Amino acid sequence: MIDVSTPKARDKFYHSSAWKRVRKQVLDRDHHECLWCKKQGRVTTAKTATLEIDHIKELQYYPDLALEPSNLRTLCHDCHNMRHDRHRDKQFDDETFEF
Ligand SMILES: [Zn+2]
Repeated sequence: MIDVSTPKARDKFYHSSAWKRVRKQVLDRDHHECLWCKKQGRVTTAKTATLEIDHIKELQYYPDLALEPSNLRTLCHDCHNMRHDRHRDKQFDDETFEF
């Protein structure tokens, strides 16, 4: 069972090798493109934006789905912010995909 009950535990999760492996898998599956931009006919890749992996059912409430590819999708930073309806802040960086 993955512990994501506290910000510290979530931070640890995002640095785990299991997460990094699944994140890569989801990026590959989604062809390293933002899915929401794609729906609007725009191609947004890591070349033009920061790609992040979104938990469709939020990690905090569905820890069982933390590493479930069907619960994950690739979004760019802007779409991801829109989805969570929040602005740039520190706690958000943990889902950022770094090269
Ligand atoms: Zn996007």
